[in-house]
Amino acid sequence: MEIMIDYEKCTPCPELKCVDTCPWGVFQVGPDKKPRVLDAASCSRCGICENLCPTKAIKVKRKDFSST
Ligand code: SF4
Ligand code: SF4
Repeated sequence: MEIMIDYEKCTPCPELKCVDTCPWGVFQVGPDKKPRVLDAASCSRCGICENLCPTKAIKVKRKDFSST
């Protein structure tokens, strides 16, 4: 999985920043109000969600990482 969400860290934030800001609509809101990865294939690895998450709950595997 290229996008990992740590549900112990995700509070979730009131704005649901990851769901709101992903330019590719990768996330949807689950029944517990936490994000789910809906469409990982559309992720451009831009890293916006990772950077904006206030609790650092998201990790995105970058394309240029050769050893992860
Ligand atoms: S890295 Fe960018 S495209 Fe991928 S889920 Fe996060 S915000 Fe969306
Ligand atoms: S931005 Fe972070 S804290 Fe907010 S909903 Fe997404 S994963 Fe949870």
